[in-house]
Amino acid sequence: MIGEIICVGNEILIGDTLNTNTRYLSKSMTNLGIEVAYQVVVGDHEERLLEAIETARRRSDVIVFTGGLGPTYDDMTKETVAKALDMTMVLDEAALEDMRLFFEQRKRTMAETNRKQAYRPSGGRMLRNENGTAPGIYIKDGETHYILLPGPPKELMPMFEKEVAPILETLSANVITSRIFQLSGIGESDLAEMIGHIMDISDNPRIAPYAKLGSVNIRVTAITGTKEEGKKQIEETTALLMPFLEPYCYSYEDKSLEEVVVQMIKEKNQTIAIAESCTGGLLSSRIINVPGVSKVYRNGFVTYSNGSKETWLKVPHALMVKEGAVSEAVAIAMAEGVAKVSDASIGVGITGIAGPDGGTPEKPVGMVCIGFTINGKSSANTFYFNGNRKKIRDYSVQYALTTLYS
Ligand code: ATP
Ligand code: MG
Repeated sequence: MIGEIICVGNEILIGDTLNTNTRYLSKSMTNLGIEVAYQVVVGDHEERLLEAIETARRRSDVIVFTGGLGPTYDDMTKETVAKALDMTMVLDEAALEDMRLFFEQRKRTMAETNRKQAYRPSGGRMLRNENGTAPGIYIKDGETHYILLPGPPKELMPMFEKEVAPILETLSANVITSRIFQLSGIGESDLAEMIGHIMDISDNPRIAPYAKLGSVNIRVTAITGTKEEGKKQIEETTALLMPFLEPYCYSYEDKSLEEVVVQMIKEKNQTIAIAESCTGGLLSSRIINVPGVSKVYRNGFVTYSNGSKETWLKVPHALMVKEGAVSEAVAIAMAEGVAKVSDASIGVGITGIAGPDGGTPEKPVGMVCIGFTINGKSSANTFYFNGNRKKIRDYSVQYALTTLYS
């Protein structure tokens, strides 16, 4: 089963809206055993959309559309699909009733333009939208399946899970099983060198590394006849890879790095406190995202000014003057200070220059010092990150977590 996603909307083409629907749909369809082979974005333009539909029906078995189901004149997805398939538009009484109820419950009157949304191509059936007014549509024309979904992700996602997934599950003869290995502390090229010999000999399962912020993931996908066979193949590939990945792989069970770090701190019966300057609480925020963190998380300080580092963390004034606020010595003093005032066994201190101003030739924008103290033993690392302010801050947090994990 070859799948194709056609995303309709000018706002995507001009870069106003990030195309998160395609990502979501690709992931979900892949998990359901559909081999997504094409992703298309086309504007609100009848001729071009017709052309996209013609191309898609020649090469794909399942075509999922997103966007352009609304009531306004520029929403034309279903009319255009009907045209391409030689179908007429008919009023769906049940959909009209649903819509009437939707407005009644919200004590709003239904605009006449909304009636447009209750029309569907004659050969299709409506998919209920519990979170908006535009229903989705499912059409089976010959051997090709057409699925039309609304643009807003809050409407699309629940509709996909409830209405579309059950349809797609029945279509695929193959079962696709996958596992994602999340790594930290290794770059993409080093990884390729390390496991290249395994990647080269294996087409199925497919082994595909992809870069993530400051880390790399590997996706292993097996296409098989049965779920059991898929699971077996994934386990076999895991056994081949793990001897190489062991030092870097923090999870292959869809856990985040912060989850694994918190788990590790818990298991060691330790506690953590964090002092942040340029990251402004981001590290604390990621750690606190993990449920059940209260057993290990003691305190977080955002000590942005030099004075606050001295006042709250007892970083010696003389050290600040001698080494400068962005230095390994101060990062360690921050880590030790916050561990002490918080009575924690682990302290982290982050200080750096996130830019865009404030860099010097010796201490450029992107320079970040991260200090750690763990059970009284202290150390620090200096990083030189590239990118804008947000990226430098995100990288800093990622590397702090990576170091805590290692
Ligand atoms: P509506 O009834 O809201 O008009 P619609 O089905 O006509 O729904 P669009 O008009 O194409 O959908 O898009 C509505 C909104 O949904 C967009 O403004 C955008 O915020 C969001 N959206 C559309 N397509 C995508 C996409 N591919 N990824 C993420 N968000 C999207
Ligand atoms: Mg619209």
